[in-house]
Amino acid sequence: MSKHTHSFQAEVAQLLHLVTHSLYSNPEIFLRELISNASDACDKLRFEALNDSSLYGDQPNLEVRLAFDKEAKTLTITDTGIGMSAQEAIDHLGTIAKSGTKAFMEQLSGDQKSDAQLIGQFGVGFYSGFIVADKITVESRRAGLPETEGVRWTSSGTGDFEVETITRPQRGTSIILHLRDDQLEFLNAWKLKSLVSKYSDHISLPILMEKEEWKDSDKEGEPGAMVKTGEWETVNKASALWTRAKKDITAEQYQEFYKSISHDHEDPLAWAHNRVEGNSEYTQLLYIPAKAPFDLYTRDKHAGIKLYVKRVFIMDDAEALMPQYLRFVKGVIDSADLPLNVSRELLQESRDVRLIRDGSVKRVLSMLEDLAKHDKHEASTDADGVTDVVSEEDKAKEGKYTRFYAEFGPVLKEGLGEDFANRERIAKLLRFASTSSDAPTVGFADYKARMKEGQEAIYYITADTLAAAKNSPQLEVFKKKGIEVLLMTDRVDEWALNYLHDFDGTPLQSVAKGAVDLGKLQDEEEKKAAEEAAEAFKPLLTKLKEALKDKAEDVRVTSRLVDSPACLVVQEGDMSSQLARMLKQAGQ
Ligand code: ADP
Ligand code: MG
Repeated sequence: MSKHTHSFQAEVAQLLHLVTHSLYSNPEIFLRELISNASDACDKLRFEALNDSSLYGDQPNLEVRLAFDKEAKTLTITDTGIGMSAQEAIDHLGTIAKSGTKAFMEQLSGDQKSDAQLIGQFGVGFYSGFIVADKITVESRRAGLPETEGVRWTSSGTGDFEVETITRPQRGTSIILHLRDDQLEFLNAWKLKSLVSKYSDHISLPILMEKEEWKDSDKEGEPGAMVKTGEWETVNKASALWTRAKKDITAEQYQEFYKSISHDHEDPLAWAHNRVEGNSEYTQLLYIPAKAPFDLYTRDKHAGIKLYVKRVFIMDDAEALMPQYLRFVKGVIDSADLPLNVSRELLQESRDVRLIRDGSVKRVLSMLEDLAKHDKHEASTDADGVTDVVSEEDKAKEGKYTRFYAEFGPVLKEGLGEDFANRERIAKLLRFASTSSDAPTVGFADYKARMKEGQEAIYYITADTLAAAKNSPQLEVFKKKGIEVLLMTDRVDEWALNYLHDFDGTPLQSVAKGAVDLGKLQDEEEKKAAEEAAEAFKPLLTKLKEALKDKAEDVRVTSRLVDSPACLVVQEGDMSSQLARMLKQAGQ
């Protein structure tokens, strides 16, 4: 094949423009992205070679090499991974196949700062090379193809790229960055080593750099220089982070690892790292992010959990490992029991996978319970004058649950309908606004603890907005009697509450449904007055019923109103008007 010019897919061109114009404030992330691609490529080879070991050819080592050339101003990242054929180079480096691309593009605002954040989340991957380079050359040969079927891909990151066939003796990929003149600081061994230890220590492959040593100049009066020795050394720890002992891992390392697998640039709120033994043996390292990704609700596939089997990467969108309502969780699960050639279908059916999933869900719920427990610390002093001492560790958790809930609360609620076995634990984690708190901070347990003498139900109302809920005429009698009502304004509330009939033995009762029975909260006099009113208004009710017969099922005298003359309610067991509207919007 001679040289051919191809145009970037429109989205890529747009992304490249953004990369070079918005991401230069933190240029060094390019190295993390390119090393992560090299590592992915080695994972892929290892995986494919499970069925065909001839793919290794005469190069059994999987490794990454970093090299720089001060004269040529190039930095090269070479891996011995799966490599790319010419067609793969055209496809993978010229288009974006990622799900959520459209949603991402739609959310770009043109505002540099918010776009930069969004791009960070989306993950620019390979294209981040253009933050520091004004030209990138990729040379590659796919494992299993002959030497003569190598490919060279070249682009200056504007509208198009060139592809030609080359002879490449070694398998794998070299990414050659022609650095911009203001990015020459990356031509420095010390700088590169420090970036590797910051971003890529946890990569399980060895990352090698050529050793340098100081050499005095032969000429009198001229300074010496560092020269290459031809000997290569490993500059990262080269052991997968989750395989190391907890005590050997710092908080910073856990955080960096999170950022490398999530593309999030904020620290996570919490993580849990455990080796589980027993029925099924596996290691889990799970993170709760601080910020919702832009496509939390729109994306069809969620790839939060990476599945490994005995350190071999198997797949990324391990939906079988985490239910939908915990789709925000990121992390790694490394199983000791699953077969290496586990397929997607097998994953769905495997008993081991089910055990891992159940165990991981429990772990996430306990992380959330722990954050909820330490969300607020009020300085409390006992009767005998002893003040509780809050440990530094627990103090650091303050406010985290509130942050979590603001980002992921509605998603967590989906769990009521999705995870029957853990429904009670999920219900305990939910928080709502109420007639005594505008902020969504009231849990069912808090509510129960404040219930009035004689109150037999947890009352709630659903509405589109907090203002609508607060001003609903259906609340009047509750306000008058000082009974707290939970105000539910998330779209998912109505649906989710269908699955929760009581909390800890106390029934949940919508104040907008059926005839609200205040039971013991109503005194004898009020009951009598209500009965008399019903009797007295009978003729009027009959007329109203006749007049509204196509529109209303029933017309009743009510004691739930104080100031308003009338209100609409739905039958007990019927859909509320809010849910009906929601389903209609969804086209059902
Ligand atoms: P992602 O890694 O999220 O898929 P990238 O933009 O980082 O996105 O990479 C795009 C694609 O290019 C990869 O999915 C892979 O197919 C290919 N690719 C990039 N770097 C390499 C490499 N070193 N070896 C083989 N393929 C690569
Ligand atoms: Mg990548």
